[in-house]
Amino acid sequence: MYPPGADTVLVRFSGEIGIKSQSVQQRMERRLREHLRQMLDQRGLDASVEAEFTRLYVRTDPEQIEKATAVAASVFGVSSVSPVKQVPPTMDAICAALRESARERYDGAAFAVRANRAGQTDDHPFSSPEIEREGGAAVTAAAEAVGIEPEVDLDDPEVTFGVECRPERAFVYLERQSGPGGLPLGTQEPVVALVSGGIDSPVAAWEVMKRGCPVVPVYVDLGRFGGVDHRARAERTVGRLASYTPDGLELWVVPGGDGLERLTEVPERYRMLLARRFMLRIAARVAERTEAVGIVTGESIGQKSSQTSAALRVTDAAVDYPVHRPLVSLDKSEISERARSVGTYEEATIDAGCHRLAPENPATRPPLSTLREVEPTAIETLAIEAVESADRIELREAVSDQETSGPYLL
Ligand code: ATP
Ligand code: MG
Repeated sequence: MYPPGADTVLVRFSGEIGIKSQSVQQRMERRLREHLRQMLDQRGLDASVEAEFTRLYVRTDPEQIEKATAVAASVFGVSSVSPVKQVPPTMDAICAALRESARERYDGAAFAVRANRAGQTDDHPFSSPEIEREGGAAVTAAAEAVGIEPEVDLDDPEVTFGVECRPERAFVYLERQSGPGGLPLGTQEPVVALVSGGIDSPVAAWEVMKRGCPVVPVYVDLGRFGGVDHRARAERTVGRLASYTPDGLELWVVPGGDGLERLTEVPERYRMLLARRFMLRIAARVAERTEAVGIVTGESIGQKSSQTSAALRVTDAAVDYPVHRPLVSLDKSEISERARSVGTYEEATIDAGCHRLAPENPATRPPLSTLREVEPTAIETLAIEAVESADRIELREAVSDQETSGPYLL
């Protein structure tokens, strides 16, 4: 819900940006602003972005306010956004805007006015509690004038009339949508994301994007060990991730069939872990080619036999890049909930083909030395060859689908 005539989106930064040194903070804010402007452009919204101390303002047409709010709420580094009505920073103007909002939008639910001021103490001849008191009286009078019996609840209001008062201007708003938080995309070095297209890995990729890392998504085509529709599923989910970036994402589709074929020659119980090591080797070779500095996977401790804490130790040892596992402590239900709010959750959870390689009794904690002994020596070469013959696909989600992502419940 937004105030009548709202033509601006007030964008608040994630608190973490505010505690950086001044130069880092400036760089992050610049990046966030640039990213936001590119995202608005890409969605065809006619809007400008203005910066002021710890805030950004998106100015647009009142008709486009909802769309602009949704775009701003999907930008990494944004903690929350509100569609606002801008007024001069005087008590009269603020109360007039509150009265108008109450007249047009208020239905009698328990309400409160919450105000905050930014700037020096003497910038305004009134305090925040005074705005709340006078603003509350203005809402009450406007409601009563149209025959609504207002109810005030300062502790747990159903409707909050927000006021933000700054030295040069003030804003009135009726909702605060959460953004993803984190750091602006591109303020960290890139990371390769191993994305199977299942529930977990797209969320893991999103989590590092949220920390500012551009991702290079890699899907390993499992050949006869995978399902026909896995690639399409991976493309769809990477498309969803691409909707968080202004330029889309380039998915590397790496043919892994030959490498996996070679692994059928080793004792069955070790195959699964060797397959995991093979995928990490592929990711490491892509990292080299793209100057990425790490690998992210969707693994969570104990979720599968190949994800026991001991299994993670022996799979990691295949590469000398750090392997990030943002979901390491999460239960499947928590991951699914995140996937829904991020927008990558697929109703059809098709089995990942990996299990065609999985034996009845997989080894879950073999010594690293044993794995190294049974691992085919050619496996590294097979990984290099696979990466050399990768397909690279530009993905950018269709604009019409984008509006379904968010709001974030994280
Ligand atoms: P997901 O839901 O992401 O498929 P999972 O729980 O099914 O994960 P595994 O199939 O054991 O787990 O895979 C573990 C991790 O390895 C995945 O989270 C993903 O990062 C990576 N991975 C698995 N299969 C592929 C694949 N075909 N291509 C790229 N990465 C993959
Ligand atoms: Mg899977």
